[in-house]
Amino acid sequence: MKTDLHIHTCLSPCGDLSMSPRAIAHAAVRAGLGLIGVVDHNSGMNAPSAVRAATDRGVATLAGVEVTTVEELHVLALFDNPAAAVAFGRCVFERMTPVPAAGFDDTDQPVVNETGEIEHFVPLWLGAPTDWPLTDLCRLILAAGGLCIPSHVDRPTMSILSQLGRMPELPFDAVEISGHYDRRRDPAHLRGRWAMIRTSDAHRPEEIGRGWTELPIRRVAIPEIRTVLRDLQVEQRFDPDAGLSPADL
Ligand SMILES: [Zn+2]
Ligand SMILES: [Zn+2]
Repeated sequence: MKTDLHIHTCLSPCGDLSMSPRAIAHAAVRAGLGLIGVVDHNSGMNAPSAVRAATDRGVATLAGVEVTTVEELHVLALFDNPAAAVAFGRCVFERMTPVPAAGFDDTDQPVVNETGEIEHFVPLWLGAPTDWPLTDLCRLILAAGGLCIPSHVDRPTMSILSQLGRMPELPFDAVEISGHYDRRRDPAHLRGRWAMIRTSDAHRPEEIGRGWTELPIRRVAIPEIRTVLRDLQVEQRFDPDAGLSPADL
């Protein structure tokens, strides 16, 4: 199944306003994705409408939150139930440094329904760090039944390697690598420790599916996906070109 587990909605401060639930679903179908993950920075409030819109178009969807830790690095928490994403997002929001969103240009942060109508705006800037260290966050995500996947670990900002300088031994379900990471050379020594996945980290509809991972999933449920990722890690079945769209080759 062609999978892109990191797609933002218009609620994210850096998400384009065109990232409505329907636009995401439409772009996912166009990109041939069978499974997507919809996340926003420090919130899961748009998850239910995004899941409904994508499911209506036949695209299975995980709902989640891209959490900013106290070290100012990003981690994906993904759930197979939108209510769990909303509940986890609420906990994240309460631990976030309160910074008014009004101080930032182009930061509307709308909560929208399935048809894209705005219900309200989130007044606090969702890019702020929480007071959770990475170790605590990882434990909390797993305890809540979610997948714990550090975002873009090789990126020069807001990543584990940029903030900590090394990969700690934590029970991540996978690590997300950027499109620039060379899996064959594996410069951060990730191979054999965690499954490596590629995503789009899309903030605009046209970016959806620009990074992806082929996952042999039969049933879209967290335990099944976790098992598939574990097998990817153990067997090291990495296709060096997986996750690259034809336009990238
Ligand atoms: Zn990120
Ligand atoms: Zn992101």
